[in-house]
Amino acid sequence: MIPLSRPTIGKEEINSVVKVLKSGILSLGPKLEEFEEKFSRLMGSKYAIAVNSGTSGLHLALKSLGINPGDEVITTPFSFVASANCALFENAKPVFVDVEEDTFNINPDLIKEKINAKTRFILPVHVFGQSCDMDPILKAARENKLKVVEDACESILATYKGKNTGTMGDAGVFAFYPNKQMTTAEGGMIVTNYEKTSALCKSYRNQGRSDNMQWLTHQRIGYNYRMDEINAAIGVEQLEKLPGFIKKRKELANAYLDELKGIDGVTLPKIRKGNEHSWFVFPVMVSEKIRDRAISELNAMGIQSKAYFHPCIHLQPFYRESLGCKEGDFPVAEKLSRTIMILPFYEQIKEKDMHTVVNSLKKILRRLK
Ligand SMILES: *Cc1c(COP(=O)(O)O)cnc(C)c1O
Repeated sequence: MIPLSRPTIGKEEINSVVKVLKSGILSLGPKLEEFEEKFSRLMGSKYAIAVNSGTSGLHLALKSLGINPGDEVITTPFSFVASANCALFENAKPVFVDVEEDTFNINPDLIKEKINAKTRFILPVHVFGQSCDMDPILKAARENKLKVVEDACESILATYKGKNTGTMGDAGVFAFYPNKQMTTAEGGMIVTNYEKTSALCKSYRNQGRSDNMQWLTHQRIGYNYRMDEINAAIGVEQLEKLPGFIKKRKELANAYLDELKGIDGVTLPKIRKGNEHSWFVFPVMVSEKIRDRAISELNAMGIQSKAYFHPCIHLQPFYRESLGCKEGDFPVAEKLSRTIMILPFYEQIKEKDMHTVVNSLKKILRRLK
C-alpha cells in the first residue's frame, strides 16, 4: 500500500520523549518553553503559544483578539472545516468569499463587497501550502479596521514576498497533526507580535489562569488547550528537521510536476510569482466526471488518494442548515472540490512508488476518458 501521508519520526523524537517520561514533568515544563521559543525565533515573531491542536489555536487567536457574538469573519469556503468553525465557537458568523481558481485561496477582489458594519475579522487560509495574496487582504483590513488571523495550518515555512505565512496578520496559527509538514502527534501553535494577545492566549489555554496567579485562581473562563511535554518534545526535534522536510517536499513536488506534465486530462497546481510553496499535499485536477472513479480505482490498487476539500465548508450539512448555504453560492470553490484529488506525498516516499502512482493514474485516466 502507498499511503497518502506519513510522518517522519526518528530516534531523536523517540529519545526525547523517553527523557520526558523519565523526568517526571509531563505538562507545563521546560520542553513547552523550549518549543515556543525556538518556534518564535524560526518564524521571526515576538511570541509563540503552543496549544493542543490547530483548531484550539484558531479559537484562541480569535478570542484573544476580541471576537464577540454577532461579529462577522470573512473567510474561505475551500478549506478544512475548522477554519470556519472557530468563528461559530464564539457565536460569530463566518462570511464566505469565493476563491481564486489557480491558487485555491480566498479571492481578495471579492472581499470588499462582503465588508459591513459587523465585519471584525478576515481569516485567510493558505491552502495546501501556498500563501494567499496577502497585500490586498492586509490593505482591506487596514482600511476597514479589521483584524487578520492567518490560518497557516497547511503552510508552515511557506513565504509571500519573502515573509513567512502566519506572521503577516495580527496572529497566525499552525497545526501539527500527523499529516502536516511537521508533527507533534496532536498540537498547534499561535504566533503574534502583541504582548496582550499572547498573554490572553496563555491564560485561555490554561483554564483562565493568569501568569502570576495561584493554581486555583481563575481570572476568566478558559479551556484546557495545553500542549503537554511529550508533544512539545516531539515538536522541538521536528522543528530542527523542518527546513530539511520542506526542502525534500519541494524536490518531490517538482518530481511529480515533471512526471505529470503534459498528461491529457490532468491540470497541475500552479505557484504564484512571489510565493514559496511548502507543499502540505500534492493536488491534481481532473474532470469532475471521472474524479471519484479515478480515486476509487487508485485506492483499489493500493494507492491512497482523496478528494480535497470535499464538500466545501458551506455545503457541510451543519452550514447548510444553520447558515442557509447552498450549491452555487461559491462556484469556483465548488468546482475545485469536484475536480481536485490528492496523491501520496511524504518525505520518505520512494521514487519507484511515485512512478507507480503516476503510471497508474495515467492508465486510469486513459481508460475512463
Ligand atoms: C489541519 C488544519 C486545521 C486544524 O488542525 P488540527 O490540529 O487538526 O485541529 C485548521 N485549518 C486547516 C486549514 C487545516 O488544514
